[in-house]
Amino acid sequence: MFLMKSLTFETLKTLLQTPKNVVIVPHVNPDGDALGSSLGLYHYLIQKGHNVCVIVPNDYPEFLKWIPGTSTIIQFDTHTEIAQQKLDNAEVLFTLDFNALHRSGPMQTVLEKNKTPKIMIDHHQQPEDYAAYTYSDVNMCSTSEMIYHFMDQMGDLELMNVAIGTALYTGIMTDTASFRFPKTTSTTHRVVAHFIEVGVNHSNIHNKVYDANRFERLKLLGTALSNLRVMNALHTAYITLSQKELDEFGYQKGDTEGLVNYGLSIKGIKFAAIFIENKDDSIIKISLRSKGNFDVNQLAREHFHGGGHQNAAGGKSLLSLDETIEKFEHLVESLKAQLQSE
Ligand code: 5GP
Ligand code: MN
Repeated sequence: MFLMKSLTFETLKTLLQTPKNVVIVPHVNPDGDALGSSLGLYHYLIQKGHNVCVIVPNDYPEFLKWIPGTSTIIQFDTHTEIAQQKLDNAEVLFTLDFNALHRSGPMQTVLEKNKTPKIMIDHHQQPEDYAAYTYSDVNMCSTSEMIYHFMDQMGDLELMNVAIGTALYTGIMTDTASFRFPKTTSTTHRVVAHFIEVGVNHSNIHNKVYDANRFERLKLLGTALSNLRVMNALHTAYITLSQKELDEFGYQKGDTEGLVNYGLSIKGIKFAAIFIENKDDSIIKISLRSKGNFDVNQLAREHFHGGGHQNAAGGKSLLSLDETIEKFEHLVESLKAQLQSE
């Protein structure tokens, strides 16, 4: 579904027919889909002759630092001046895998002020109205799949190559938890089939993302699992990790990725959460996951300054870890009827 505002798709298409300075920005703490969609679009637009630059708001996990094009990425919080120059010279600005400017973290003010026409491509719920052109579809499994459909709409699928396909495959694989989540469709599989046809090594991508653990990370996983608490009657499970526990295992960005899903793997559990203490930012970072109709996007919005999708959302708490858990347990209790339905 293409929504339109000040730019029509045809004007956008015309705009991109001649070389432009293009900047691509994914959300803060970029994940596999944020980076995969950004680098996939990067490689596509390079092929079209544009001058393209991906600017990430802050750092991202080591297990994503092999995607083709990674070395060209500019990190805004550490290289603000050069990033600012690129943004000043931009003629087209893509914002990927987010739909509210505050999701760009340290880049929020800069993006709010920037007058360059913004193109939003995103699959999260309730998009804000900041872009000149909005391509929003909450039924998509990933922004990376949307980049493929965008190329298709542009009439450019013959430009598909290994670099584009590798980046987009990474995003689709990570956002669907390896093609498991319900939003993985027959179209998703056709899209990745095209990547494999042009020579993308899917098995290699899986190894690079999922079999890149440090031993310490597995020990952190052990602690997370021993901290797992189950509220059987409420079909809820949650994990806590304190700053002390993270420090003990030399926490690195990305180490806690996916841990929340262990709660959801228990038979009968419909709602899982993880609470991760971050003393530097004085917050508890929260990830929420659900199965079926239980809407964690709404819960994250209403109670934890966050958002996301119906079955996967995130947010934060400004209370202590213990207070946050207390609040959470009360909240879950108050949602008993919903959690016990079906
Ligand atoms: P995760 O739990 O993996 O960090 O995020 C799950 C989903 O929720 C992702 O789609 C992510 O973009 C979204 N999300 C995570 N944290 C936040 C947040 O603080 N605010 C909003 N609006 N969305 C978030
Ligand atoms: Mn995504």
